[in-house]
Amino acid sequence: MNDIKLGAITVTRVEEMHGPIMPPAAFFPTIPDASWQQDEDTLTPDHLGDGFVHVAMQTWVLRSEGRTILIDTGVGNDKARPAVEAWDHLDLDFLGNLARAGVRPEDVDLVVNTHLHVDHVGWNTRLVDGEWVPTFPNATYLMPRADFEFWHPDNHPGLAGGVNENVFTDSVAPVHAAGQVRLWEDSHAIDAALRLEAAPGHTPGSSVLKLSSEGDRALFAGDLIHTPLQVREWGHNSCFCEDPAAAVRTRHELLGWAADHNALVLPAHLSGPGALEVERSGDTFALKQWGPFDRL
Ligand SMILES: [Zn+2]
Repeated sequence: MNDIKLGAITVTRVEEMHGPIMPPAAFFPTIPDASWQQDEDTLTPDHLGDGFVHVAMQTWVLRSEGRTILIDTGVGNDKARPAVEAWDHLDLDFLGNLARAGVRPEDVDLVVNTHLHVDHVGWNTRLVDGEWVPTFPNATYLMPRADFEFWHPDNHPGLAGGVNENVFTDSVAPVHAAGQVRLWEDSHAIDAALRLEAAPGHTPGSSVLKLSSEGDRALFAGDLIHTPLQVREWGHNSCFCEDPAAAVRTRHELLGWAADHNALVLPAHLSGPGALEVERSGDTFALKQWGPFDRL
């Protein structure tokens, strides 16, 4: 089941791929082994297995007020990713998966990149006759200005050898050159039910999308958390968080918002049920329920 109805909005998960990505101690250097062991039974197999953290690359398709909106666009095909062998020159049927969810590229009205990391912008473009062209020809792409500036090669000379090498050039700049990018800062209202908000830390421009429709609430959390274990271990970051202290502050604030507003939390990379419900537990947080599908 990959469809969720939240108020007047239909949410569909379209997967690019899923599986093991990194050992826990490499991905989350400060989370103690004992903490993984404590939750091993509930994390396995969707989020942990064979010594690796498991994640999904996926896009959330929202249908709201007659528009089709994509949140994040995975790793993409044909892209040179020298730092990550598993993402180098992929050839995956993501557009077929999107079509099976009823979405043709020309149907997409809005693309939201929660931030401009390699695994959130890949399908922004595709290779046609040797050129990178926008995959979604009729879409406006919403990008956080802080990330657009941070990851621009003119401002970020250290890209070579890192995970974001080539990313701006092949997945951001061509869409900008086509006049399809709208940069935003602080917050941006998409419609009456959907609002983007800055959530800095993981990257300077990282953002989340809050949904509020007919009493239902959800938090499309981007890379606020990568594993359900970061609900209890909210003070711990992934190794990819640019500003660790800000990432912790933002995580605490937004998990608190989700707990206080009974909002479903949909992190970008959560495989398995795809969504979580959280509650406050003293000074920290706990998982109230795994997955939205029992509830809805
Ligand atoms: Zn990511």
